[in-house]
Amino acid sequence: MNEPDVRGHINVAQAISIVDAVPVRPRVVALDAPVCLARRLSAPVFADRDYPPFDKSLMDGYAARSGDLAAADAAMSSLRVLGTIAAGSATTFPLQPGQCAAIMTGAPIPAGADCVVPVESVQLSPDKETVRVAGAKPGEFVAPRGSEARTGQVVLQRGQRLGPAQLAAAASVGATRLEVFAAPTAGILVTGDEIVPPGAMPLRHQIRDANGPMLAALVGELGASVESSESVGDDPESIRAALLAGLRHDVLFVSGGMSMGQHDHVPRLLTELGVRILITKLRIKPGKPFIFGVYEKPDRTHYVFGLPGNPVSGFVCTLVLASRLLTRLCGGTPPAQLPRSRLAEPLPANGPREFYQPAILDGPNIHPLNWKGSADVFTLAQANCLIVRPEKHPPLAVGAEIEFIAFGPGGM
Ligand code: AMP
Ligand code: MG
Repeated sequence: MNEPDVRGHINVAQAISIVDAVPVRPRVVALDAPVCLARRLSAPVFADRDYPPFDKSLMDGYAARSGDLAAADAAMSSLRVLGTIAAGSATTFPLQPGQCAAIMTGAPIPAGADCVVPVESVQLSPDKETVRVAGAKPGEFVAPRGSEARTGQVVLQRGQRLGPAQLAAAASVGATRLEVFAAPTAGILVTGDEIVPPGAMPLRHQIRDANGPMLAALVGELGASVESSESVGDDPESIRAALLAGLRHDVLFVSGGMSMGQHDHVPRLLTELGVRILITKLRIKPGKPFIFGVYEKPDRTHYVFGLPGNPVSGFVCTLVLASRLLTRLCGGTPPAQLPRSRLAEPLPANGPREFYQPAILDGPNIHPLNWKGSADVFTLAQANCLIVRPEKHPPLAVGAEIEFIAFGPGGM
């Protein structure tokens, strides 16, 4: 395939530093914990008491005094069973020498006891009044009070992303409302006279909109709240009105009409509306033509990503560049470096643009998928990662190390 003229274009590393350098002011909100899934904490969460809050049995068995028990290899000791302590029972009874208590997992260890002998290791007398027990070490099968967390200790850090495990930790300490970074709002604007909605039957010269659904899903996965998704033709007046409406969101994604064709009005209209364009010419494959701009209002700054109409290009630019801004708006830090894997098949030399090639990461190996161009969503739909080929990268042999950007789900 022919390479476009990319003289005077910036490279991807330069574009990343421009996107990473724009100031962001993430908003913070207090929300009910269940709706905080995938958000990041804007304030730490503390333990409200010791965890566990009491010396806790880790087994169903008998709470005992280890000093009463003979060494493991000696004869068995006999202990009198005082009663049963269930999980959730508020009262326990102190153990005197020679006594034990039946105890359940999660129940508080009674005063005087310092170990639990699992039920499997004792012989209960027929009248259930005594047990014969072999040796046990002090502290065996007991979780001491505060051994998981102490009162006032940070259990979740500021900036931490909330998944199921973090919501469990928050629930444990009674943090039912959490201070988190609010989801940045996003708008999606698809342009093009040839585009019809996915539910329509296109005429021969028309195509269905792949970018609207793809961007809504991707931008949502990247942490934004997608609040509008519009589609307009290529006439400047409709585009201007739609851009103006879209600029109310924190981040506006515009698809198509970004280059120099007679019907490509978006860059000019954005400039006329007061958007300061920071990136226009970028050496990325796929991804030409891409733009990035900021729209400064007295109360807040809005950001615009102008994406090529070809779906694979729009996907790549969103994942490589827009994701970094969204991560920062969500209170996170974009990755400083990419993971690496080994090629399962050889690759030819790369051209003058950094190339993001759809591939399948399978365990320790990466399988490049046949590149059929930036319109080919079907190959992209088989992929679960993009291989990163630096500009003018030499041919690569099987086993060569290569950087990749993972995304899910993909694959089979
Ligand atoms: P453009 O960037 O507007 O020049 O479009 C580049 C190519 O992408 C053209 O072949 C368009 O038909 C195609 N394209 C534009 N928008 C979309 C869309 N929303 N979904 C699928 N393909 C698109
Ligand atoms: Mg177009």
